[in-house]
Amino acid sequence: MTRLSDIVKHWTPAQWDALIMQYLPANVLTDKFWRGKPGPCPICLGHDRFTYDNKRGRGDWVCRQCNDGHPMAGDGLELIRRSSGMSFAELARELEGNRPPRALPQAARPASPKAAMSDEAKAKRIQRVWNTATPLVPGDAAMRYLAARVPGLVAPRPSALRLATMDYRHDDKVMGRYPTIVAQLTLPDGRMATVHRTALDPVKPAKAYIVSADGEILPAKRNDVSALPIAGGAVRLMPPRDGVLGVAEGLETAYAAHMLFGVPTWYCLNRVLLNRFVVPQGLGIHTLHIFADFDAIDPKTRKSPGMADALALGKRVRNEGLTVHVHRPMVRGTDFCDQWLTANRLQGIAGERAVCA
Ligand SMILES: [Zn+2]
Repeated sequence: MTRLSDIVKHWTPAQWDALIMQYLPANVLTDKFWRGKPGPCPICLGHDRFTYDNKRGRGDWVCRQCNDGHPMAGDGLELIRRSSGMSFAELARELEGNRPPRALPQAARPASPKAAMSDEAKAKRIQRVWNTATPLVPGDAAMRYLAARVPGLVAPRPSALRLATMDYRHDDKVMGRYPTIVAQLTLPDGRMATVHRTALDPVKPAKAYIVSADGEILPAKRNDVSALPIAGGAVRLMPPRDGVLGVAEGLETAYAAHMLFGVPTWYCLNRVLLNRFVVPQGLGIHTLHIFADFDAIDPKTRKSPGMADALALGKRVRNEGLTVHVHRPMVRGTDFCDQWLTANRLQGIAGERAVCA
């Protein structure tokens, strides 16, 4: 595999901008961000402490508090690794073979028209996306996708998920129209912070495979704009039961954990937001199950990123007086979705054997 440092060796500062734009969430990529003004940190999620200056032309940034309350700086690769949870190896795999990001014209730098939208316009846009999507019904593209990812899934029909047919835009060009799972990210106070969108293949029960004109594979899962800081929120897939709730990183792992443990489970979109999850008041929740992704060890921190964030959440919530159970998949490098698939397959084999015998 090509080394990451070789892939990016001859990139221009503008190409680093373009890379950053591909990987950071919309709520970070504001006008202020591109003007080098302090804003929300995509790593520690604090307010007004993060500056992107690209000063050495390598996607450079600094956060005043990222290092346990002390400053931390780095290049664009470090930024993407820390904010997305991808390892350098994963990132190298994504970038390898792709053409380098197309440099953005300087005039286009204030990321997108979205970045210039007012909070009010963003809130309206999210509400519009949600309102035009329709509740899931058995046999629709969303249900078929979920049944393929979590075979045998039985769960209450989720009011936080809807289905829409949506244009997929990239660089303000429409790349195609896809059935799209629209998930409502709800803050602890009940307000909708954003909608998370998963573009699906129009035919197969799988995520959409979308490739840009320059051969770049585009993410099927994306957040829409957010008018409010999204930290603390979750997609409330099903109601808590008897004061018991579970949380996981992703949609599929939440449903798989629900199948494995019988616990009503929400999801937080990624490990960073899982770390920041806030148990809502007023729902009588006294016990929190945390279903971690058992990521491979990060050689730099010598920790499994998914586990580290799950444990941090567990510690904080336990200090708030709740009962906490942190669950880890049995095999390193897997998540509960993998574990459910394995359990399901073994059961299938056992079933076949029983029939044969
Ligand atoms: Zn930070």
